[in-house]
Amino acid sequence: MSTQELAPTQDAATKRLYEALLPGHKPVAVYDFIVIGSGPSGRRAAIQAAKLGKRVLVVEKGRRVGGVSVHTGTIPSKTLRETVLNLSGWRERGFYGRAYRAKKDITAKDLMARLHMTLDHEVDVLEHQFTRNNVTQMRGTAMFLDPHRISVTSDAGEVSIVEGQKFLIAVGTRPHRPKDVPFDGVQVLDSDEIVELKHLPRSLTVIGAGVIGVEYATIFSALDVQVALVEARPTFLDFIDHELVEDFLHQLRDRGMTIRFGSKVDRIEIEGGHTITVLESGRRVRSEMLLYAAGREGVTDSLNLEACGLSFDQRGRIKVDGKTFQTNVGHIYATGDVVGFPSLASTSMEQGRIAACHAFGIPMPPAPEFFPYGIYAVPEISTIGMSEEEAKRQNIPYDCGIARFRETSRGHIMGLHAGMMKMIVALDTRRLLGVHIVGEGATELIHIGQAVLNLHGTLDYFIENTFNYPTLAEAYKIAALDAWNRMPRIPS
Ligand SMILES: Cc1cc2nc3c(=O)[nH]c(=O)nc-3n(C[C@H](O)[C@H](O)[C@H](O)COP(=O)(O)OP(=O)(O)OC[C@H]3O[C@@H](n4cnc5c(N)ncnc54)[C@H](O)[C@@H]3O)c2cc1C
Repeated sequence: MSTQELAPTQDAATKRLYEALLPGHKPVAVYDFIVIGSGPSGRRAAIQAAKLGKRVLVVEKGRRVGGVSVHTGTIPSKTLRETVLNLSGWRERGFYGRAYRAKKDITAKDLMARLHMTLDHEVDVLEHQFTRNNVTQMRGTAMFLDPHRISVTSDAGEVSIVEGQKFLIAVGTRPHRPKDVPFDGVQVLDSDEIVELKHLPRSLTVIGAGVIGVEYATIFSALDVQVALVEARPTFLDFIDHELVEDFLHQLRDRGMTIRFGSKVDRIEIEGGHTITVLESGRRVRSEMLLYAAGREGVTDSLNLEACGLSFDQRGRIKVDGKTFQTNVGHIYATGDVVGFPSLASTSMEQGRIAACHAFGIPMPPAPEFFPYGIYAVPEISTIGMSEEEAKRQNIPYDCGIARFRETSRGHIMGLHAGMMKMIVALDTRRLLGVHIVGEGATELIHIGQAVLNLHGTLDYFIENTFNYPTLAEAYKIAALDAWNRMPRIPS
């Protein structure tokens, strides 16, 4: 962007930016590494670069550091889930029946109290990390002026210009908000707004059965809110082993959730104090509240990427090299949700670290082939490696081992009636190919499978090793034995 292009604009902030760009203006400071966005990937990259002795600046436009992960995404949704499971007595219902509740009248205030405490703590830890590692923080919205300079505009319209040798764009995503959806922050909400819930609805329609939609739909259903999940596609969670998804779906329907696949939304209306979702089929889904969770888009439109020679796609995503996270402008990197799949806090952090190391010439071993995927629905799902469908697609001779949590002593103690683990094993080498878990503790249990998988281990690891007793981890042994019983014997 040239100063001439900026000049005709009349708003005060742009005028000040124009003045700042006049010849002779010096940048406020020069940094080795400027990180735009303080979410998981930005902060991990910033700390890594600081540990390499670099002068690092993190620019964050939000009120506090932490990004979507801390303020509207991962941590709020997981705190909400934990609060719901505790207050509703969900984990005890296996023993005391479906009507059991630890707290009778659960209010939105109950849910918010724990949320705010957790978030404050997370922000404190982050700020302390930045201070300890000498990472400079600047509050404001960053925008590229040219490939090595950005302007940072504060809420009050003050403009600073900073210069950087290397940059990391870690601006994340925001909820997709189609114009024809009547968002009002009270009855019709997006997934950022739902974490500031003012009252608990009796019924909820969730549009979009992606990971975020499914998580919130099942969390509210665990509070005995009547939930209808509406999805345009005929299936959901297609990247997960189908047998596991079937088990999960059965559990949701069994507790009374309505799930409408293949249901495109024609329009959403507010009528008589209720939201009405009119489907293309003509069916009307009525509820007190509606969560629109159909997609997210990169926050790249205000970065003025053209000024540094970059562009974004129709979903606001930036293209990078999948191994180094370098964009097509050598000194600018991009990581986290703004580069697309898998869009997880866990993977974003690793991407940030890899980008920072690459930027400053630190050789990195290639990232392990497999990473776990966690869906914190109720019940939770976690998966790593190949699904049965993928093994078939690749023509790999395989067998599966299944363990039900109710087969473990720990499962009896916990009163678990549901939950399963499925293991995929190569027939010829006995190598572990994938582990898929639905049920209590799935997102923790998966890491045992991850270690064996990434260390190229076989089925024998689970059979030969002793596991703590009684634990849910014993499911690994049960699933391994189940597969072993059906596998051809290797002649000794
Ligand atoms: C409801 C929900 C639940 C989730 N649950 C999980 C989960 O359980 N596990 C998991 O691993 N992942 C989860 N995720 C995904 C996870 O939150 C994201 O993958 C992660 O936050 C992405 O990190 P990021 O580094 O891309 O930055 P983000 O966390 O997206 O943060 C980007 C930051 O950049 C700032 N920014 C944007 N533009 C500018 C600008 N121009 N100038 C300055 N600052 C700017 C923003 O204010 C923001 O603070 C969830 C997401 C959502 C929405």
